[in-house]
Amino acid sequence: MPRRNNRPAPTQSVPGGAGHDRIESGPDGSDYQVRAVPGARAVKPYRCPGCDHEIAVGVAHIVAWPADTDGADDRRHWHSGWWRGRRTRRPTR
Ligand SMILES: [Zn+2]
Repeated sequence: MPRRNNRPAPTQSVPGGAGHDRIESGPDGSDYQVRAVPGARAVKPYRCPGCDHEIAVGVAHIVAWPADTDGADDRRHWHSGWWRGRRTRRPTR
């Protein structure tokens, strides 16, 4: 009988399944959990909080939420470029 490797598969604690989640600091300096959404998964239009324009269906983008929450209620969908450039193009307050 072959010996089975009992190491558990990597799990994601975030709803929505596996992804490339990572922690980055957000526009306000606090930690955000970040996930890339491929175009094939972008099935609804979203409003990007960075530029206040719509992210069209089928456009790959970024979803981010405060790292100290599970993201169920507080996800934000960003244009990828806007999220990456958030430190240099600061939102006005
Ligand atoms: Zn945007």
